[in-house]
Amino acid sequence: MDATDVAVVDRGSVGPDTFTLTFDTPAAFEGRAGQFVRLSAEVDGESHARFYTLSSPDTEDTFEVTAEVHEEGGPFSAYLADLSVGDELTMAGPYGEDYYEGEDRAVVLAGGPGIGAAVAIAEAAKANDAEAAVVYSYDGEPAHTARLDTLEAAGADVALLGDDADADAFHAAVDDVLTGAEAEGVFVYGFADFVDLATEAIEAAGGDVDGAKVESFG
Ligand SMILES: Cc1cc2nc3c(=O)[nH]c(=O)nc-3n(C[C@H](O)[C@H](O)[C@H](O)COP(=O)(O)OP(=O)(O)OC[C@H]3O[C@@H](n4cnc5c(N)ncnc54)[C@H](O)[C@@H]3O)c2cc1C
Repeated sequence: MDATDVAVVDRGSVGPDTFTLTFDTPAAFEGRAGQFVRLSAEVDGESHARFYTLSSPDTEDTFEVTAEVHEEGGPFSAYLADLSVGDELTMAGPYGEDYYEGEDRAVVLAGGPGIGAAVAIAEAAKANDAEAAVVYSYDGEPAHTARLDTLEAAGADVALLGDDADADAFHAAVDDVLTGAEAEGVFVYGFADFVDLATEAIEAAGGDVDGAKVESFG
């Protein structure tokens, strides 16, 4: 759909420096878990636009994104972090061909703010009576722990890998959740270093890297 103005209707803190923004869904906007939107606004007199992946399992009535303010980050994540309910920005989308399409098992590998996409896809899979697994690599403290706990209680496999987990531990966690079943969808969301680690782990576990749905955050 064409770019349209949307107002923040809710915001929440879901981890250190990680927060959600919820917007009313404009008419004619329909996004799928795994797709992303472009948010744009003027920050200090300059136009900026960045992409954010949906962190709600659907876009019925409202949709949500999850953003992280990183120490290496720039102007836009800091701007989003300061938004309050009622503030407006411009949204376009949805974009992306890599989204949950009803696979019988969804395995999501998430790095940093990629956890937003992971909870969205895992929740969409559970709502579809499918299996879900999340392998989440993070620095410091994990985000979205309440939703991850709920997913785990609903039968999803959840592996949390913090700073103390090395690449071997990540490879082992990926090996544990990949079954190789034909109806298994493998998803990867995060910044470039994480995408490299995740694709290496899929390959090492004998998974299908070319068949994986991969979104690099840059
Ligand atoms: C398809 C797509 C989907 C995306 N989805 C999300 C999302 O769901 N949530 C989200 O928070 N971001 C997401 N991003 C990244 C987002 O668009 C911004 O780049 C991010 O919010 C930082 O914006 P900025 O203006 O603060 O910094 P930028 O000017 O964009 O970045 C400055 C530098 O900081 C690095 N950086 C910024 N944030 C991080 C971080 N969290 N971890 C590691 N390095 C970082 C960048 O790589 C860059 O080198 C996505 C990007 C793409 C392309």
